[in-house]
Amino acid sequence: MEKKLFKAESKRLLEMMINSIYSQKEIFLRELISNASDAIDKIYYKALTDDSLSFNKDSYYIKVAADKENRTLTITDTGIGMTKEELESNLGIIAQSGSLAFKTENELKDEHEIIGQFGVGFYSAFMVADEVTVITKALGSDEAFMWQSAGADGYTIESTQKDSVGTEITLKIKENTEEENYDEYVEEYRLKSIIKKYSDFIRYPIKMDVTESRLKEGSENEYEEYQEEQTINSMVPIWRKNKSELTDEDYENFYAEKHYGFDKPLAHIHTSVDGAVSYHAILYIPEKTPFDYYSKEYEKGLELYSNGVLIMNKCADLLPDYFSFVKGMVDSPDLSLNISREILQHDRQLKRIANNINKKIKSELQNLLKNDRDKYVTFYESFGRQLKYGVYSDFGANKDVLQDLLMFYSSKEKKLVTLDEYISRMPEDQKYIYYASGESNERIEKLPQTELVSEKGYEILYFTDEVDEFAIKMLMSYKEKEFKSVSSSDLGIDEKEKTETEEKENKDLFDFMKNILSDKVKDVRASKRLRSHPVCFSTDGEVTIEMEKILSAMPD
Ligand code: ADP
Ligand code: MG
Repeated sequence: MEKKLFKAESKRLLEMMINSIYSQKEIFLRELISNASDAIDKIYYKALTDDSLSFNKDSYYIKVAADKENRTLTITDTGIGMTKEELESNLGIIAQSGSLAFKTENELKDEHEIIGQFGVGFYSAFMVADEVTVITKALGSDEAFMWQSAGADGYTIESTQKDSVGTEITLKIKENTEEENYDEYVEEYRLKSIIKKYSDFIRYPIKMDVTESRLKEGSENEYEEYQEEQTINSMVPIWRKNKSELTDEDYENFYAEKHYGFDKPLAHIHTSVDGAVSYHAILYIPEKTPFDYYSKEYEKGLELYSNGVLIMNKCADLLPDYFSFVKGMVDSPDLSLNISREILQHDRQLKRIANNINKKIKSELQNLLKNDRDKYVTFYESFGRQLKYGVYSDFGANKDVLQDLLMFYSSKEKKLVTLDEYISRMPEDQKYIYYASGESNERIEKLPQTELVSEKGYEILYFTDEVDEFAIKMLMSYKEKEFKSVSSSDLGIDEKEKTETEEKENKDLFDFMKNILSDKVKDVRASKRLRSHPVCFSTDGEVTIEMEKILSAMPD
């Protein structure tokens, strides 16, 4: 048996790999399972093109087995296996991908589901193992081979015995160190959860012998443990199913299973796109504001899958900030992954997907607004503030997307109304969209400044959120109607029998008041807008009293 050496660069590469490419050690299992799935896919593909082969889905599976005593973990598959030459080139040359070669040779298009492409994933096993043994028998071959390596100093290949076609990979799990615990990689519970997390939608069953307990026969309170082979992954991802086969409950279950939230989603969007970029997505509009939503701790993002394998838990680039409340996932075969399959190298495809998704979310919200007002109001009470932030931020760049989704409390309707509804009710002589700011609807109702506008029969929008006026300043107008605060000096309402005489008659009193209030007010004038109140404030410029309060409370 001849011992072969890795080339010098390979040695360095392997060390680099093992120590730096992956941010989490647990992904080694994702990589080995992905390879096993690829190996089965290859048989499946061969069977499609070769009549002498048949593919009976039931006889293909992946098995994960831990042996605590011997500290080994074995991943077995019934896939295509490897010849001696393939072992040499696929596992002996780092960054050589047999799977990529397979796709090229067979001219498989991108949308084919074979996962491998970089030829590095296999070596991630060395993050948790001192030694890796691969026993494999290739489809159509009588011989089996064993590949063995303890990492950077090389590998051996020798003949061995194996009955069936496929591959069996055994990891000798490392001993614990002070910093790292490796015991977990032979723990049934932990392995199950890693499989669920990354490989739930691998299309072949991933089996494990799982310990269960049952009542001992003939006994009423004594339990015994027994082993049972179970399939850990759910295999067919819900997003690949036909919408018509799925019920609201299925979507709600998926939401809960994925821990997107503890509430029930208000609405979901399920979309499959085939085109310049293909993807499936399931998105949710939650009902309740997560407790940390309006804090720095909240992280927006969607789960990102590539061919059913989880790549990223929270891909932030898929959602604009103003829709940061949306939960869900995207699966696409068209992503440019980097070598660790963790972060994306180019984001062109991702941007496209993000744009599409953005439009979908908007139209779903408009849909709710139109067809299920109560739900929309629930949504708006939870996340409306975020939409208003969205209008305000980026210098109003998003106002076109968002303005139709805004709602404010109305003096007339005594409930939330949209700007469009406001406009449609405006009397002909009304020039502006009037609003009043204050701490609460009750307080605004009592503002003296609202009296004249209300008396004219004009509707007033109540702004009780700090962001409201700032957002409106960015909008400036809606459908060519400008916004006007009820406390601005010119309300655009004819206050004809102007106040000159009154002003003259009371000049002394006004001068006296101005003197006493000195720099607190700019002027004291007679007003026609008051009815039951003796006095009110008004502002000259763009900044209203409420905004002044907020601005002066802000740190410089
Ligand atoms: P990738 O999967 O990106 O190609 P890997 O380092 O994970 O890279 O695997 C290298 C190659 O080794 C694969 O492309 C495949 O040809 C081969 N290989 C790995 N695991 C198996 C397996 N379980 N069965 C058959 N071939 C395998
Ligand atoms: Mg791989």
